[in-house]
Amino acid sequence: MPTTIGLTRRALLTGGSAALATPVLLRPAAAQDMARAPVAPVVPDTVTRVHTARPLVAMTFDDGPHPTLTPQLLDILAERGIRATFYVIGWRVLREPQLMRRIVAEGHEIGNHTWSHPSLYDYSDAAVLSQLDRTSQAIQETVGRPPVTLRPPYGNLYPRQRRMVMDARGMPTVLWSVDPEDWRRPGSAAVADRILSRSHPGAVILSHDIIGGTVRAMPATLDGLVARGYQFTTVSELIGWPRWDSRNIRLASSS
Ligand SMILES: [Zn+2]
Repeated sequence: MPTTIGLTRRALLTGGSAALATPVLLRPAAAQDMARAPVAPVVPDTVTRVHTARPLVAMTFDDGPHPTLTPQLLDILAERGIRATFYVIGWRVLREPQLMRRIVAEGHEIGNHTWSHPSLYDYSDAAVLSQLDRTSQAIQETVGRPPVTLRPPYGNLYPRQRRMVMDARGMPTVLWSVDPEDWRRPGSAAVADRILSRSHPGAVILSHDIIGGTVRAMPATLDGLVARGYQFTTVSELIGWPRWDSRNIRLASSS
């Protein structure tokens, strides 16, 4: 039940309780109506997109931070005033603390992409949580707050495991609805074409900021989305949560 999820979040995260009490909505456009009505928040354990008529999309970049490509991407985003979500790998966080702080300082959201990027299908629940917790801890220690959503490497997490992560850590699993298959390195023109042709209102767009062709595709991709009327939001805001960098949240396990 949503109430249980809310309690779970409070048990795991301390501070910013007012923000945590904000309902999670599947339809951001209905936020004002929902705020007036005593409706229990709906927190899906899996998000692939949001159903909305508003032309909102969330750009997500996985597998970084990369020491040279991620700064290039940040420049491209900053030039356009676009905020995105970075699903970072734990061991890379430790290598690039200043870059992590730049990502956050420029208004982007950080998500959890596990410590070492394994397929989690064969992992025990304890091992899954270890991959997540170690990464969340590193992110908190680096930028001052923990991630609030998970993207499993390759999207590999069974529905039962996603439920387990939501119950144990209050973190929804965020997959995607637009996949340009940029990991196959089809070239920047193909990446841009695929994203532009497949995007839709409420889309979660998958891409990787450790691939040069993807980063080089972003100016045309982002400008093309803007030309089509799309606006950009982070994952938290897309699903109806407050801005990630406005929340004073900390892992309860840290002091
Ligand atoms: Zn990945």
